[in-house]
Amino acid sequence: LLEIRDLRKSYGRLEVLKGVDCDVRPGEVISIIGSSGSGKTTMLRCVNMLEEFEGGTIRIDGEEIGFTTTGGQRRRKSDREIARQRALTGMAFQQFNLFPHMTALENVTLGLTLVRRMGREEARALGETWLDRVGLLQRKDQYPSKLSGGQQQRVAIARAIAMSPRLMLFDEVTSALDPELVSEVLQVVRSLAQDGMTMLLVTHEMRFAFEVSSRVIFMNGGRIGEEGDPREMFVSPKTERLAAFLQSSR
Ligand code: ATP
Repeated sequence: LLEIRDLRKSYGRLEVLKGVDCDVRPGEVISIIGSSGSGKTTMLRCVNMLEEFEGGTIRIDGEEIGFTTTGGQRRRKSDREIARQRALTGMAFQQFNLFPHMTALENVTLGLTLVRRMGREEARALGETWLDRVGLLQRKDQYPSKLSGGQQQRVAIARAIAMSPRLMLFDEVTSALDPELVSEVLQVVRSLAQDGMTMLLVTHEMRFAFEVSSRVIFMNGGRIGEEGDPREMFVSPKTERLAAFLQSSR
């Protein structure tokens, strides 16, 4: 479903991704772990073109994302084409980024009516289905300021999923939450995983990564340091780096 080849990205002189290769098959749940600054978030942001990358290719269902390469020439696709491709992925962020002047339901239905061109009633019904799915149907008419952080994050996830992306990207979705609100959000992510949603998640929750992932990727200095089955990686890491990282994040 997702194929990343030799992905390279710099911010000015700082080389953040130094050649990343990664394949994600349908239904896989992949956790990306690694120390701060190792390039985890940047990798996710490249997949949906929130960041442009200088080298390598990203394909979703075989379709090259963001750029076309013909005869060795690499050209950025049109903004319109990139907007269409961006909708192949859904993303949830550390900061929930809900529209404060819209209710929970309006936040979820906005993209459906505006981008998907769905009729209001159909969008409403689908929005309610997803809010129900994240346990917030009763809160549909509330504004974000009246919701807890965990509830806001669940609305943000419902909003992304309602657009039926091929792939969900979760960027440290629990990092901004008070500890007691973390589990309700992880529970939503877990249930989506059980339903077969393909996902890539950057997380600092090692226990969660261990439980939910079909595969774990350990990023180290802009490269994949190690990857594999969560049990093998957490129990018997092959590299010193991963062992040290796991030790430090206990
Ligand atoms: P964290 O766990 O702290 O979020 P990360 O592994 O997700 O770390 P990235 O956010 O991908 O790391 O950042 C990798 C490096 O790129 C960091 O050194 C960061 O300071 C730098 N960086 C990220 N975004 C930008 C930007 N927009 N401009 C300049 N430098 C950036």
